[in-house]
Amino acid sequence: MSKRDYYEVLGVDRSADQKEIKKAYRRLAQKYHPDRNPDDNTAAEKFREVSDAYEVLTDSEKRAAYDQFGHAGVDGQAGGGGFGGGGAGGFGDIFGDVFGDIFGGAGGGRRNPNAPQRGSDLRYNLEIELEEAVAGTNVDIRVPRLSECGHCHGDGAEPGTSKKSCSTCNGIGQVRMQQGFFAVQQACPTCHGRGEVVETPCRKCHGEGRVKETRTLSVRIPPGVDTGDRIRLNGEGEGGVNGGPAGDLYVQVSIKAHDIFERDGRDLFCDVPISFVDATLGGELEVPTLEGRVKLKIPAETQTGKLFRLRGKGVKPVRGGSPGDLICKVVLETPVNLNEDQKELLRGFQASLEDTGSRHSPRKSGFFDGVKKFFDDMRS
Ligand SMILES: [Zn+2]
Ligand SMILES: [Zn+2]
Repeated sequence: MSKRDYYEVLGVDRSADQKEIKKAYRRLAQKYHPDRNPDDNTAAEKFREVSDAYEVLTDSEKRAAYDQFGHAGVDGQAGGGGFGGGGAGGFGDIFGDVFGDIFGGAGGGRRNPNAPQRGSDLRYNLEIELEEAVAGTNVDIRVPRLSECGHCHGDGAEPGTSKKSCSTCNGIGQVRMQQGFFAVQQACPTCHGRGEVVETPCRKCHGEGRVKETRTLSVRIPPGVDTGDRIRLNGEGEGGVNGGPAGDLYVQVSIKAHDIFERDGRDLFCDVPISFVDATLGGELEVPTLEGRVKLKIPAETQTGKLFRLRGKGVKPVRGGSPGDLICKVVLETPVNLNEDQKELLRGFQASLEDTGSRHSPRKSGFFDGVKKFFDDMRS
């Protein structure tokens, strides 16, 4: 079946904005809506077509793909029928968005309540130490969720008892109400659209079909994960309804602040304090890495703030590639708690510097030259 151009279907320009597309869809969808065209296959087909077009053209990513590649660019995503996956998301959302105010409620009465529905996805926020993130680890997490009741297997009725047809809607699951021009179909308030009522509710789930439980799951954290990474556990989300599959569990990783290291992607940063004597004469420092201490040679006349790069001592990224670097920033430390002798030595040292001019403090002399020029310029 060759598909018509989506812009043509909605009768809008290729440059149409969201408002125009929504307006066009609203008009056409009302015209071809199944409630207004019962048993009319042509109308049903048109309704589906405009809905497909609406779904693609109001999603900026899909629209861009469609503009570039035509139907081939979006067919895989639109799931053939236009709405992926049944269940949560999909049709109900779009429908509720446009018709919520007319037909009362998000997709009220649209979705077959007896159809299998996929369970919701769940998110779990997991905070781990930097060391765990770098080396990888296994973490046990406790996840509360709704899962299918084991006693009634999701049926809601006590095993051995039967359900009876709902008397409010005669088992149809829908009731019709007149609202302005429209005959509105709504889910039956008694049976919530199921068409059946449970006579003896399951004693474990009280007829809900699902029970709350807390499960302990072991999550493998691969080496190199970073804040913002998600780990998906298939089928560990909320249980489905009416035999639908369970949703997924997403473990959202964040990394705790570390006492020594700061991480930026694959690189690690740390401050290394040194004495002004070491900085002046040069020397060997011990610096921490995640694999233990290593020696770092500091050349003579090292200024504070200078960065030293230790190649390959960073983090190996979770998606592969070579490890980053450890970047050590030298921070000059002012001596404290000096005794009188030590202070006297420093005063003598200071005096000896003055004898040989300003060339011992390149930055300081440059700075004061700058200050002098600044005030001279202001005066002139
Ligand atoms: Zn049950
Ligand atoms: Zn009913």
